[in-house]
Amino acid sequence: MSDAVFNRDRHIKYYRRCLKTFLPDLYTGNDSNRMLLAFFTIAGLDILGVLHDETTPEERQGYIEWIYHCQVPTGGFRGFTGTDFGIEKRTPENAFWDPASIPSTFFALVILVILGDDLSRVKRVECLQWLLRLQREDGSFGDIVGPDGEIEGGRDLRFCCFAAGTRYILRGKRGEGLEDVKDIDVARLVAFIEACQTYDGGMSEAPFCESHAGLTYCAIGALTFLNRFSSDKPAPVVSPGSEEFESLVRWLVARQTSDLGENDEEQPTRSDKTQENLSQAVEALRLNGKVEALPPIEPPTEESLQWAGFNGRSNKAADTCYSFWNTATLAMLDRLGLVDAARNRRYLLEKTQHLIGGFGKGVGEPPDLLHSYFGLVSLAFEGEPGLNSVDPAMCTSHRGVQHLHSLPWWQA
Ligand SMILES: [Zn+2]
Repeated sequence: MSDAVFNRDRHIKYYRRCLKTFLPDLYTGNDSNRMLLAFFTIAGLDILGVLHDETTPEERQGYIEWIYHCQVPTGGFRGFTGTDFGIEKRTPENAFWDPASIPSTFFALVILVILGDDLSRVKRVECLQWLLRLQREDGSFGDIVGPDGEIEGGRDLRFCCFAAGTRYILRGKRGEGLEDVKDIDVARLVAFIEACQTYDGGMSEAPFCESHAGLTYCAIGALTFLNRFSSDKPAPVVSPGSEEFESLVRWLVARQTSDLGENDEEQPTRSDKTQENLSQAVEALRLNGKVEALPPIEPPTEESLQWAGFNGRSNKAADTCYSFWNTATLAMLDRLGLVDAARNRRYLLEKTQHLIGGFGKGVGEPPDLLHSYFGLVSLAFEGEPGLNSVDPAMCTSHRGVQHLHSLPWWQA
């Protein structure tokens, strides 16, 4: 195999441009997710080891102030400032128009940690009390609290992961100063997560749905956060040797694929279809003809196996972000060595690394913040030179996590 080249300087340039100029107009619809976009940008520069070279202390302080500006008085963080109508105009009646959300809260806290803030201005007690209001009877978490106190947002593993992560960051080792704050129901949360494991070993968004690598990451991420504090016996799904653990690992390893989605044939468009006459349409419904018309399945060759990324579900093509979701989960399970790191590296560097820096979702696609960050992190797990090492659950540099762990109240 020839040596694929990691264009570190171009990635730095890509992130610098994302931080200091306007994002492309395709991001307009993501305005309410600014906290997430900020996370990818700041965390990307941090993983590249240039956050302090590319920004001044005043700029970093400015980012910290912006994040605290997104803190909601009743606890938690909003995803952007667009819903904030000012503290004087905020009332209990209109507060639900400007809610804190679980993902924004987790990302706000992680960015503060990366920027070296001590979290002293975070409303810890209020935030953890708000978190408690988001847990449902079945143990799962919602996203926001609605007008009548109802829990809104999907009943799925994403919010469970962000809730467990937020609790991990804010409780500290022993919940110093939180003696009067009721904790979430950890046993019920674990039971909900375990119920999401499907027949094939992967985890789905909720019980009885289809396995999905992103949600599998969320499940194992949540359990990792919970287990770091707990002396209880870990759930079988994260206990080596159990059927649950081994089938999960098998499913994750099977996500590595040399199907890169490069040769997907274009589906006929609707207007083509309407032009078909009736007899053609009837003919097209004949099953035998359809089977005969299928292209032969080419066996893999030495050439075609040179690049192998990861997919998120069975029978799907590779996608840059799944190189992260799968390898991060395997890293949390201490089974990263079971996948082919060299072929994943080649896939990322030769197929989705973009000429101008950053990574696209698939072959030939333009870079975006999400796929760029996850491409970098997947490479970092395998020790790519020029990248800082990454904690797979916090999805940020070990340097940042060490800063959190060094805070006096976290230690206490
Ligand atoms: Zn993706």
